[in-house]
Amino acid sequence: MAKSDRGGWIRRWMSGHGTFAAYRHRIEKAASPHCGACGDVENAGHVLLECDRHAALRTETEAITGSLTEGSLITVMLRDEHCWKAVDQLCLDILFEVDEVVAARRNRTM
Ligand SMILES: [Zn+2]
Repeated sequence: MAKSDRGGWIRRWMSGHGTFAAYRHRIEKAASPHCGACGDVENAGHVLLECDRHAALRTETEAITGSLTEGSLITVMLRDEHCWKAVDQLCLDILFEVDEVVAARRNRTM
């Protein structure tokens, strides 16, 4: 996904489709549904809100938005434009990192 694909991230987060290991495992494109960084099931919620791999990006965003949880995410995004843009950028940055990890794995197996 190109960083300029601002419409694509929300589809991927909301549907859970894309490069998340749980989804890729379900469609038989990955050997495991687990996160390569921590071993938990790698779905959209895990990647955005839980995984330590993206903790630095999440911490930067939470300095602007306050705590991000599954229950607060939409409320935070709708609070104001500043929070919307911060979460939007977090999603894009994390998806970019996830895509890079998946591409690196593909290159190693080719
Ligand atoms: Zn993880």
